[in-house]
Amino acid sequence: MNKKKIVIALSLIVMSMATMMGCGAKTKSKSESADLVIIGAGGAGLAAAVQAKEEGVEKIVVLDKMPMVGGNTNKATGGMNAAESTPQKAAGIKDSIQTMIDDTMKGGKNLNDPELVKKLANEAKDGIDWLIGLGADLNEVARAGGATNDRIHRPVGGAAVGATIVKTLKTEAEKQGVDIRTLNEATEIVKDSEGNISGVKAKDKEGKAYTINTKVVVVAAGGFGANMEMITGYKAELQGFATTNHPGATGDGIKLVESLGGALRDMEQIQTHPTGVAAQGLLISEGVRGDGAILVNKGAKRFYNELDTRDKVSKAVLGQEGKEAFLVFDDNVKDGLHAIEEYVGAGVVVEGNSVEDLASKIGVDGATLKSTIDEYNTAVDTQKDPLGRTSLLKKLNKGKFYAIQITPIIHHTMGGVVINTKAEVLDSNGKAIKGLFAAGEVTGGVHGANRLGGNAVADIIVYGRQAGKSAAELIK
Ligand SMILES: Cc1cc2nc3c(=O)[nH]c(=O)nc-3n(C[C@H](O)[C@H](O)[C@H](O)COP(=O)(O)OP(=O)(O)OC[C@H]3O[C@@H](n4cnc5c(N)ncnc54)[C@H](O)[C@@H]3O)c2cc1C
Repeated sequence: MNKKKIVIALSLIVMSMATMMGCGAKTKSKSESADLVIIGAGGAGLAAAVQAKEEGVEKIVVLDKMPMVGGNTNKATGGMNAAESTPQKAAGIKDSIQTMIDDTMKGGKNLNDPELVKKLANEAKDGIDWLIGLGADLNEVARAGGATNDRIHRPVGGAAVGATIVKTLKTEAEKQGVDIRTLNEATEIVKDSEGNISGVKAKDKEGKAYTINTKVVVVAAGGFGANMEMITGYKAELQGFATTNHPGATGDGIKLVESLGGALRDMEQIQTHPTGVAAQGLLISEGVRGDGAILVNKGAKRFYNELDTRDKVSKAVLGQEGKEAFLVFDDNVKDGLHAIEEYVGAGVVVEGNSVEDLASKIGVDGATLKSTIDEYNTAVDTQKDPLGRTSLLKKLNKGKFYAIQITPIIHHTMGGVVINTKAEVLDSNGKAIKGLFAAGEVTGGVHGANRLGGNAVADIIVYGRQAGKSAAELIK
């Protein structure tokens, strides 16, 4: 064998060894690139991906660090707010975009960015049409806390909204050829020597580091409701509280953006949801109260307007004996809301054949509970509630009676990355960081000091789509 042949033979051996060791050309390597990288495959990230595809972006990679897509969006039960929507009109519900703006600002104690709120309320109805067009059922409309009118949209029969939306968006994204990678964690957003976004560093399923070169990144990594260190760092009084959030809600997106000079706002605005079951980290949807349930304390008495905003109802529950209360309802409420079956399955619903039977099972005085329910039923008849509840839909008088013991639980982080209405991430001087967009719970400003039920799903769809559009414009 001459010298040239020996060199060729050695090269072939080296190449085949490299392939066997998994270092072949197909392995994610330094040369991988994409038009757009989206960090987080929850509702905001998937909405951004589908919208960007609709705008003609070719190569989109969506990274998610968890084993399945969907994040907190998967857990959303109550619904999505929108005013002047097609399903509202079909049901004859009178509502206005301005009322949704007013409710959102009032609920958020005017700490919200008014421009972000205007866009939310103006475009949520288009988001409903868009999702219905993609195959989601959002045709039933109900009442949620802090809302003047019925505007929370959910599947007919009251099934959970989040899983429906995630399934719809994931199916569409895959159909459009979006590369969705679960168990792939983004660890850094990289800038080049001129300060422009140049890529995303990530870890794959085996924990191996790799980089995707890209000039455009959407951060949609969700909030930090499952990161107790961050939670208590911003709000010490929440030490020891349980959370409703999925384990991946660790605030990574906030840290990634902060390290690039992105500004943060309202970080101490952390919402507790009044009706949680702490031992299981389970949320009892606002829909249960919206559809007619009342709250009673251990003295078997109502103590607050059940449909006031979450911050106020949480505070009222924390003021009761044991910082706990009971949600009480009947078959009228149970039969209209599929989500309650999930709570029955979780073993948290106590059932009684009569009010007195229920009272004895939950350890409260039967006669007092009976007169509390009678008084509530009179309020439904007269449409006048001494506690100021305005949605008095149904009497509690049908079939069996039920109770769920609840306590406030960490639920939503209103603060986060500062964005403008184009979903561009802003630095501390209010200047947009080129190529960097953010949407969803990772951002701050939409919800101010307190988020209304149904407004987070509206947020992820409106701003997820906007991030997809803005990214596409830049790429073009
Ligand atoms: C129990 C529950 C019920 C709710 N019900 C409602 C409701 O009925 N109506 C309503 O409006 N709102 C509701 N919310 C709030 C709402 O669901 C969330 O605010 C919203 O879905 C957040 O969407 P998102 O896309 O911003 O984040 P998420 O859906 O949480 O998605 C973020 C994704 O980013 C991923 N991620 C995080 N870090 C990284 C990283 N480093 N690399 C890669 N991926 C990463 C996460 O794994 C996650 O999948 C509810 C929330 C909970 C917890």
